[in-house]
Amino acid sequence: MQTIFARQARLPGGWVQDLRLRIENGAIAALQPDSTSQDGDTRVDTLLPGMANLHSHSFQRAMAGMTEHRAPGKDSFWTWRDLMYRFVEKLTPDHIEAIAALTFMEMLEAGFTSVGEFHYLHHRPGGARYADPTELSQRVFAAAMETGIGLTHLPVLYSYGGAGQQPLSGGQLRFGNSVDSFVALLENTRAAARRNMPADTVVGLAPHSLRATCPEELIKAISLQEGAPLHIHIAEQPAEVRAIQDWLGGRPVEWLLENTPVDSSWCLIHATHMTGKETQQMAQSGAVAGLCPITEANLGDGPFNGPDFLGNDGRFGIGSDSNVRISLPEELRMLEYSQRLRHMARNVMIHEAGSVGASLFLGGAQGGALALGRDSGQIEVGGLADLIAIDSDRPSLCALPPSQLLDGFCFAAGDDAVTDVWSAGRHKVRQGRHASRDSIVATYKHCISDLCAAL
Ligand code: ZN
Repeated sequence: MQTIFARQARLPGGWVQDLRLRIENGAIAALQPDSTSQDGDTRVDTLLPGMANLHSHSFQRAMAGMTEHRAPGKDSFWTWRDLMYRFVEKLTPDHIEAIAALTFMEMLEAGFTSVGEFHYLHHRPGGARYADPTELSQRVFAAAMETGIGLTHLPVLYSYGGAGQQPLSGGQLRFGNSVDSFVALLENTRAAARRNMPADTVVGLAPHSLRATCPEELIKAISLQEGAPLHIHIAEQPAEVRAIQDWLGGRPVEWLLENTPVDSSWCLIHATHMTGKETQQMAQSGAVAGLCPITEANLGDGPFNGPDFLGNDGRFGIGSDSNVRISLPEELRMLEYSQRLRHMARNVMIHEAGSVGASLFLGGAQGGALALGRDSGQIEVGGLADLIAIDSDRPSLCALPPSQLLDGFCFAAGDDAVTDVWSAGRHKVRQGRHASRDSIVATYKHCISDLCAAL
């Protein structure tokens, strides 16, 4: 059992003062506003619900900064993808674990209490299986255990190299599974999670995209869901939209909504290029929009249609995707700013009047938790103790009353405002620093020099 005393906290009903919060077995057992601090309490300034990072490819963290050099001709998402494939060919299981540990540690320090790891690296370079086909998933598990982040692991079904059942090639061979081999992989991964991982761990599944599967096999994959979260990349790039239209006769989101049982257990990653009708219908399906604003900007994907989606009560969460930059306030800020630039307007990511920072933060926390199948996203008794504390006495925040604090966090604060982080009660970040930072960074640096020598 542990207890936290917060000078102020944001509960579902609004702000409270002098909150004492008790954690038992990873969950919030009691909430007492207007309390006094007692010996043994962990004292913090401002307590907020933890944020789910709903979309990550952790290994891509090690590529950050390697793709910002302009090649002759016109760079695009697809030239970025070519480098990613070359990089993938060199990764060993040790590299994958070390990079994931660094990435998850940085997420926790940023204020992300859980992560949806969209895991498509399954095999050896060239596609040969490891002796244990779940080897690389278990490396991700080990990184989650070392760092304490809440994990929703999403093994990826990736069967084809492009729309129209094109064969896999090159770097893609490490990703490939038929539906039958994927069934075995998924069952073994679920069993390994039950055996080795904390109770808050979730194993969902992720058909990579429409272009990496085909309609019959997608339907088979969906039948494996068993109520767990299902994530899919959708409509990230205009070229992808055209390719799916030519092949299946419909735009990606349009086709998905007409042909599959999309509901609130689904998370559509990116959903960037949608018509007004697709936007409305996706919002009404209950699926969470998995938005990755920093990566979408970095890759030149374009911005999502926020106002139409929120206007139809759509739910969203945020993900750091390529992990080129891991920052909670910056991800939320980029989401709002990309909308302001697209619509040439201010204060866009909010349905009605009120604090845009609160809409971004609290909406993202709830949508993200839903997408990851975690009972969290707000501070309430019975929910997982996914919590972050920020210091409202920082110069960027000290002038703000509680009603404007989340605006300050999203638009004015640096990353250092986050002081403490708990994931399912695991108190791994104190004073902005992860408990195992030194050893995780040392292992990562050793790994990256080995990897760079191989590239
Ligand atoms: Zn992705």
